[in-house]
Amino acid sequence: MDKIVYGKIYTMDRENPIAEAVGISDGKIVYVGDSSGVEMEKADAQCEYCGGAVLPGFIDTHVHAIPSGLFMAGVDVSGENDIDGIIKKMKELGARTAPGQWILAAKFQDKNIAEKRFPIKEELDSVSTECPVMICHNDTHPFAFNTKAIEMLDLDPKMDGIEVDGDGKVTGFVTDPAFMDVSESMVDLFSDEELLQGYENIDKYAAGNGYTTVFTKDSYRVIKLLFDNQSRFKTEVKPMLRTRNCFDFQSVEKLLNDEELKKITCVCAFGDGAFDSYTGATVEPYEGNPDNFGTLFQTNDELYDYLELPYKNGLQVSCHAIGDNAIDQVLNVYERLHVAYPEDDRRPRIEHFEMPKKAAIKKAARLNCMLGMQPLLIEVCEGMDMEGYRCFVGERVKRCSPYRSCLDEGLVIGGGSDFSVTEMLPLRSAMICMEHPVEEERISLYETLEMFTCNAAKLGFMEHRKGMLKVGMDADIVLLEKNPFNVEPHQLSDIAVEKTIRAGKDVYIKE
Ligand SMILES: [Zn+2]
Repeated sequence: MDKIVYGKIYTMDRENPIAEAVGISDGKIVYVGDSSGVEMEKADAQCEYCGGAVLPGFIDTHVHAIPSGLFMAGVDVSGENDIDGIIKKMKELGARTAPGQWILAAKFQDKNIAEKRFPIKEELDSVSTECPVMICHNDTHPFAFNTKAIEMLDLDPKMDGIEVDGDGKVTGFVTDPAFMDVSESMVDLFSDEELLQGYENIDKYAAGNGYTTVFTKDSYRVIKLLFDNQSRFKTEVKPMLRTRNCFDFQSVEKLLNDEELKKITCVCAFGDGAFDSYTGATVEPYEGNPDNFGTLFQTNDELYDYLELPYKNGLQVSCHAIGDNAIDQVLNVYERLHVAYPEDDRRPRIEHFEMPKKAAIKKAARLNCMLGMQPLLIEVCEGMDMEGYRCFVGERVKRCSPYRSCLDEGLVIGGGSDFSVTEMLPLRSAMICMEHPVEEERISLYETLEMFTCNAAKLGFMEHRKGMLKVGMDADIVLLEKNPFNVEPHQLSDIAVEKTIRAGKDVYIKE
């Protein structure tokens, strides 16, 4: 045996939940049981004792590798109260930035600053006229550019979502549905090496937070790049193809021609946008806005035609759906796909599933959908007091993030962060799920941990080798400083990761 980890071991295998020792050989788990069972092996193995708790390495089912990784090198403006403060922070970063390089500001929330708006082009020009400058909303959809960036990106004033002034000139503000095209054009301006270095920021952060597997939802170029350079990373990359829109058959064709990548990649579409930008598609209108029902990004038939191509080729499909109308549309499309291609175990995914109707939860369960959900959206977007979304959806906020209802219907939920929309913090996610503002939707610590381990593995058809500590599985293990089952919920997010092991190798050790 190469290594033995001793401690209070939570295997996340309901049939054999607790153990005292895990034995590792050649990157795989070869023993799980009481400590006396590995007594004979002790002399040759590297022995490790954990005083807190040992769990399978965490899995995040929804991360935006790029541009999030690039943004980690930018400046966080979430603490600023007004545009002056934001510009000052961006200038500080600008002073350290070489001409021609991007100056990026992330985690901006227009509703949280005095002016309640994005900085305009002229304000961003004051940061730099030689460097491209971009500020991005916390939900990653709307963003704003300076003049230099507008030139480099060659923004098309006729595109829906690109704001123009009275003279038809581009203002620099971009929102749905143009955001996807524009963010992709922006990524095209970075070299492969810059993108890989950007992703290394996330990879390092993920390993430090106990993760061993990260589902990255990105363009074909990015997932191919990450997949081909997997050996550079501490965590395993599980690709999801994020396409520009429902007419981007080109990216799907490229994937279908890639024999290796297509075996492990899920194809993701977008059903709608987000409530913050009034693009989440709702059945009833937005609060105090009787004509606004958000935006369905395409018709039922368009979404069906698009997802049919990967589906009939045996690939897993997924769709981002936040509002109840978008969720209903996605479910209708999945039902049609299921009728046309009636095979078992296709596990169509829905991302976010934020405000489903009760009937949609039942229907998702009937269609064996799996859900990629992000508990920290409750804290960051909906608000623990539910005020974050009440201004958009009123009392319907109580239907958001229905964890208990989904689990009670038998749905499999894979936990995630939507990084960089929220942080990659599974224990904080557990705390939020346990303190859900709607009491009936609370779930337990154990159930949340399942979301970030064994159930997350199911979303990627990886349950035979990931998500549990079981003989034959990958030796992906996290050692926590304290036992999460022995602390109060509010102390969960203070528990540090002591060590992260991926395929038997230490990929993070706390200093
Ligand atoms: Zn996302």
